[in-house]
Amino acid sequence: MFLFRSAVLFVSLSALAQGAFAQGRMATTKVKSKVKAGTIDSVQWRRAHYIVNRDSAYAFPRVALRKLMGGNRCFVENKAIRPRQDRAALLSVEKKQTPFAVIVGCSDSRVPNEIIFDQGVGDLFIVRTAGQVMAAASYGSIEFATVALGTKLVVVMGHQSCGAVNAAINRPDVPGHIVTLVNSIKHAAAVSKDQPGDRLDNAVRENVLEQVQELRDLDPVLSKKYQAGEVLIVGAVYQLHTGQVEFLPETLKNLPAPAAAAKPSAAAEALKH
Ligand SMILES: [Zn+2]
Repeated sequence: MFLFRSAVLFVSLSALAQGAFAQGRMATTKVKSKVKAGTIDSVQWRRAHYIVNRDSAYAFPRVALRKLMGGNRCFVENKAIRPRQDRAALLSVEKKQTPFAVIVGCSDSRVPNEIIFDQGVGDLFIVRTAGQVMAAASYGSIEFATVALGTKLVVVMGHQSCGAVNAAINRPDVPGHIVTLVNSIKHAAAVSKDQPGDRLDNAVRENVLEQVQELRDLDPVLSKKYQAGEVLIVGAVYQLHTGQVEFLPETLKNLPAPAAAAKPSAAAEALKH
């Protein structure tokens, strides 16, 4: 752990642009690892868990996506490195934040974003409501991140056993403002009604797919940025019993080509792995 924290993994942007990732190689040539191959903190381990410089993740949304996948793998394997959680990290973002991903997730207490993605202070810009139902304030928050903070990856993340989705399926008559949640999710609940498999799991997944589309179509900011390849918008579902985040393949296909500024050709390949 200490060795990893003290090591500086050098991933140059120029190397990214030249396609090092596409060739399955990370730009680790400047790392002098004294750690035994295959063990935690080794070059091989860092490569498998996609431990890349967070600035690279901020610059390139496909790298950001792989970084989240790698962080979740660390968490699932009980090998979380808990980066950027000390006083130095607090001070480093005191004047300016550059989160590399927006997470649009559920308020559920069992889905702590920084923990399950093994990230730290200043990494994730999080918009949370029950069932990750969105309204004007949510839209504005996401737009703020992409416009004012320069964040280029948006992940809509549902989760197993979501109470809000369950309410949309089983409890159409709910008190107070909870009806707002139910109304927003009930289409997904209806669409998934006759699908094979678990009713709630299917509705959770369908809800995420619809919310991803909702953001991709959201005028006037996100729709333009998404189509221009400046912002990547994908969906995921978190499994409570394994800790695993599944990025939904339907949302990783047929993506607009990355904008020139967000395009290390290699990172574009990342989604294939
Ligand atoms: Zn939930």
